[in-house]
Amino acid sequence: MLILLVSYISLGIISIIIGPVAGEINDLIRQIKTSTSNTKRTNQKHKVIIAKITLGVFTILFYPLLYPIIFHHLKSLRRQKQLDNVKLLDYRLFFFKISGSGVFSCNDCSFNQKIIAHLHGAKGWQLSGCQCQTCGKFHKTENYSNNLERQKCDCGGILERDNPIFCPKCRSFQVGYEMRIIT
Ligand SMILES: [Zn+2]
Ligand SMILES: [Zn+2]
Repeated sequence: MLILLVSYISLGIISIIIGPVAGEINDLIRQIKTSTSNTKRTNQKHKVIIAKITLGVFTILFYPLLYPIIFHHLKSLRRQKQLDNVKLLDYRLFFFKISGSGVFSCNDCSFNQKIIAHLHGAKGWQLSGCQCQTCGKFHKTENYSNNLERQKCDCGGILERDNPIFCPKCRSFQVGYEMRIIT
């Protein structure tokens, strides 16, 4: 019985030093550190120490419970990474691949136009390019993450930033972008 208990606890201790559980704990501690960075130094230290002890003790006692959660988390991370890789390999042009402002051009009909890809300034200000999915017109939106859904094109079409960019004139995906202004 004692041997079982000792090996259970030693496995718990090992899992807070190495492996995915240890990684998760370090991530949590880092998050606590950044979220308490405005508070006093000593207070922050105390909070981090308390968090380390609680997480450590909890993990040593209940680590078998944590593994399914962590594996699930890792799986979804891997899936997201695969999706991102697919987009990177995609020959088509995406807004996330370009920055600054510059000239959009179509290789099929040689249409070209100055557009904004992504500009950012002080205090988190951002101006992001987006495209009407109906007529193809280029637009720009401030702080797009919470603004884009409310904005519409004059034609009534929805604006998107995550879809591949197409030529507004001939709708070809054989398009390019040349950056003129870096931000
Ligand atoms: Zn439109
Ligand atoms: Zn074109």
